[in-house]
Amino acid sequence: MTDLKSLTYPQLEEFMKELGQPAYRTGQVFGWLHQKGVTSFDQMTNLPAALRQTLAEKSFLNSLTVERKLVSKKDGTVKYLFGLRDGECVESVLMDYHHGHSLCISTQVGCRQGCRFCASTLGGLVRNLTPAEMLDEIYTATADSGHRIDSVVLMGIGEPLDNYDNVMAFLELLSDPRGLNLSLRHVSLSTCGLVDRIYDLAEKKLGLTLSISLHGSNDTVRSASMPINNKWNIDALLKACRDYFDTTGRRVSFEYALIEGKNDSPEQARELAALLKGMLCHVNLIPVNPVVERGNRRSSRQAVERFQKTLQSCGVNATVRRELGTDINAACGQLRRTHAQSSTQESEETP
Ligand code: SAH
Repeated sequence: MTDLKSLTYPQLEEFMKELGQPAYRTGQVFGWLHQKGVTSFDQMTNLPAALRQTLAEKSFLNSLTVERKLVSKKDGTVKYLFGLRDGECVESVLMDYHHGHSLCISTQVGCRQGCRFCASTLGGLVRNLTPAEMLDEIYTATADSGHRIDSVVLMGIGEPLDNYDNVMAFLELLSDPRGLNLSLRHVSLSTCGLVDRIYDLAEKKLGLTLSISLHGSNDTVRSASMPINNKWNIDALLKACRDYFDTTGRRVSFEYALIEGKNDSPEQARELAALLKGMLCHVNLIPVNPVVERGNRRSSRQAVERFQKTLQSCGVNATVRRELGTDINAACGQLRRTHAQSSTQESEETP
């Protein structure tokens, strides 16, 4: 069975050609899938019944279910737990910014990168998401909330560059003028630092914002919390970031989660500033979200402010990320995990 919604326009064209269909049918089907968001072949009313029948025999339409939905009383942030066709779950977070709605989406079920502060990686990688599943996070959140999604961030569960081919197909579909037509200027992709893929991504010149999860100002600290640093250290990572900027002209963004006593001292802020010297970039500071299994403590507000001021005094652009949805466990990976744990308990209780 072909996963119809995962096919890029040229792939769908090929598929329709194999069915002996004229070229204009591709445009019709693509529009139904990616502009009108149909959930069944019967809704494709301008297709002959026989074609709808053939499509239903040879392909399927992916869809997600809303397993849980948490709405923040503080700021309206919505966290979705979406159910996938095989019973797995992923999370998306819908945030209301002054300039529009932004959706943070997952790219994998679980993650194999093993970052020690992160909830998403605790159970390892289960599988990659398909392009259709990533698109459906957007389509389902739009349909459920009634809000148009103005920007998308690939910062939910998973490492997007570890699911490279599907993420590239997803981006092609997302920005296709015959589909949702979202400019990739409104997309950010966050990575823990898969250096070989950063070079590949730069070559594509997609115009998206590359966001790097740095979280340490030297290799000792970074390797202690991010295993990927043992494969590609800070030097190799920053070299790839400079190349990304030189090739694409797009400023790189760095994520830095402040963990009390581990990476939040003024000396470390100066060390970070020295690393980024001369780079056109931006640092996002986030007090770490404590994950029960991880035992990390978030830095105090004073420590966060001091870190930011030190960076700024060294000429590095730094902001403290406004935290949204703190009352609904909005940080990635936590809802899927508690959901998995509660269903295990439920099944344990059932004789
Ligand atoms: N794998 C990608 C994207 C998913 S994680 C990446 O590593 O960038 C999205 C962001 O949340 C990353 O910057 C990640 O380091 C950060 N993050 C993960 N767990 C966190 C926590 N407990 N507190 C604060 N930020 C966290």
